Amino acid sequence: MSIRIQTKPFELMLKYPFSISGYSRESTPLMLLEIELDGLIGLGEASMVPYHGENLATASEFLSKVKLDWLKAPFNFDEVRDYLDGLAPGNPNIKAAIDIALHDLQGKIDQKPCWQYFDVDPEQMPLTSITIGMDSREVILKKVQEAEPAHILKVKLGGEADKMLIETIRSVTDKPLFVDANQGWKDRNQALELVHWLQEQGVLLIEQPMDKNNWEDNAWITEKSPIPILGDESIQRLADVEKAKGVYHGINIKLMKSAGMHEAWQMIQMARKLDLKILMGCMSETSCATLAAAALAPLCDWADLDGPFLTKNNPFPNPDFKDGKWVLNNLAGLGIS
Ligand code: MG
Repeated sequence: MSIRIQTKPFELMLKYPFSISGYSRESTPLMLLEIELDGLIGLGEASMVPYHGENLATASEFLSKVKLDWLKAPFNFDEVRDYLDGLAPGNPNIKAAIDIALHDLQGKIDQKPCWQYFDVDPEQMPLTSITIGMDSREVILKKVQEAEPAHILKVKLGGEADKMLIETIRSVTDKPLFVDANQGWKDRNQALELVHWLQEQGVLLIEQPMDKNNWEDNAWITEKSPIPILGDESIQRLADVEKAKGVYHGINIKLMKSAGMHEAWQMIQMARKLDLKILMGCMSETSCATLAAAALAPLCDWADLDGPFLTKNNPFPNPDFKDGKWVLNNLAGLGIS
């Protein structure tokens, strides 16, 4: 039987307008994808956050080139990746949707949960943070309250009010914090001073302090920082991981950057080889991409998989969340019930 791809555009609504350094939005366009083979359906998802350069039109255009008739189970994911990269460069989000759907499909064919393909021990699942975006003091306090299930909060900094934001959060909770500067800091001396202050405030790690192309200043901060500094925007795919060595203590891997689960897994192997720390991150995503990332998260040091907490029309049931962690189930494929 032949393989069929079906797509459905979906507007994922955020609970609060999402604001990071230099930008804000209220929803995220998704392309939900189904790949069907012999009556079994694999689910995938592309989350097209605007700053990543993809949208429904570019995704459709890319998909119009994709012919999967040659594919045979068990899928060879190196071959799939090389085929998709051969069709066009870029487009990591829609490539991720195809890779995720094929993993879900493979799991359903084998009647096996996806996490088993990566030799993952679900007991090793790290705590996941929930992000508190920039906002007024009142809204921040409300967000902290709503993030009650998380044992770690992530705070978006990189603006004028960084210390005020942290102090506001610290006025109501002692939970450990992740900080994401999203390239927002412009002066390395000021940034380093802030890094030391943040350490005193119970911050465990800091993502992308300065511009993604400013390797020198990011490396300078990393060298002097008492807490791990991670590259996010600087590090997209497997070929970028080696560049992180000597510049960052670790990397933030996201399926929408890595073009899916297979390459994310390869990035994890490479990062471990280079002695780099790993945060498994996400974009605005449904349970589908969240479970795909959660299947790999036990191989990482930290997780920031908060999609279902920050959105209000997740088309799938929320995965189980217990003691601050996602729970991997034994259902075939990604585990979407
Ligand atoms: Mg980040």
